[in-house]
Amino acid sequence: MKDGLKIVVCAKVVPKPEEVKVDPETMTIVRTEVENELNPACKHALEMGLQLKDKHGGEVILLSMGPPLFEGFLKMGIAMGADDAVLLSDRAFAGADTYATSYALAEAVVKIGDVDLILCGEETSDSSTGQVPPGVAEWLDVPQITYVSQLEIGEDGRLRGKRSITGGHEVIAVHMPALVSVEIGVNSPRFPDFRRKRWAEREFELKVWDIGELGVEPEMVGLPGSHTSVDRLIEAKSPERLREFVEGTPEEKAKKVYEIIKPYLQS
Ligand SMILES: Cc1cc2nc3c(=O)[nH]c(=O)nc-3n(C[C@H](O)[C@H](O)[C@H](O)COP(=O)(O)OP(=O)(O)OC[C@H]3O[C@@H](n4cnc5c(N)ncnc54)[C@H](O)[C@@H]3O)c2cc1C
Repeated sequence: MKDGLKIVVCAKVVPKPEEVKVDPETMTIVRTEVENELNPACKHALEMGLQLKDKHGGEVILLSMGPPLFEGFLKMGIAMGADDAVLLSDRAFAGADTYATSYALAEAVVKIGDVDLILCGEETSDSSTGQVPPGVAEWLDVPQITYVSQLEIGEDGRLRGKRSITGGHEVIAVHMPALVSVEIGVNSPRFPDFRRKRWAEREFELKVWDIGELGVEPEMVGLPGSHTSVDRLIEAKSPERLREFVEGTPEEKAKKVYEIIKPYLQS
């Protein structure tokens, strides 16, 4: 294996779960005026990448597609130990479905060049399709292992990924370059280093690539490059919770409660 690994970690910024809202006009997730965070599964993917770098040397590059507000979160990833970060940011990328998102990310991996391993989270907490990682692997025509809980490199240089299956787990071995999606909760992402955080905020220059810099056709990305669009959203209404205070002695209360629940026991 050459000196160390060149690892790209695809990371998305998402609204905190309690803040997820969809704009009824554009049918896209509202990202401004809400509290955002680095997608939890992406943090586990980053931690897995940093652990491989600690063990085998090399570099970890964060890659994201999104609006300028993503920059601060990518710098947090630098403070955790990533070496570089690329943000694909351009109005032309907006409204992309997973086909167009995975295409843009794959093209960025090609432009970064000489990448051994692409790590992704198993899914995002906002749209949660889980479709982008396999899409990136397909565009790059590299092998993929999804929902991985443990990852190591064998003496033969092959990547071995452990993944849970019904009734146990399996270990899949592939040659690099390859893509891996990381199961949520499989490690404890390290805390950002305070000094590195300050350096990242004040001095680190993040690479921001627009459509020209990425060198792709407008019809391949964003809404024009998408084959699906969110047509309608139907809010799932949670059933109304009934509440009744039962008065009386414990025996009376028990009798009344039995009368209330009896119809449900018989149905
Ligand atoms: C309610 C709703 C439903 C949707 N349904 C569909 C659908 O059925 N089909 C469809 O094609 N599109 C759909 N979309 C659009 C889709 O959400 C976007 O394309 C989105 O950018 C990527 O999909 P995801 O968040 O589900 O990614 P996932 O596939 O769940 O993401 C998995 C991993 O891929 C990487 N990744 C994903 N997005 C990025 C990014 N922007 N930058 C860097 N890494 C990234 C991260 O590592 C992440 O952990 C939907 C959007 C909404 C709001």
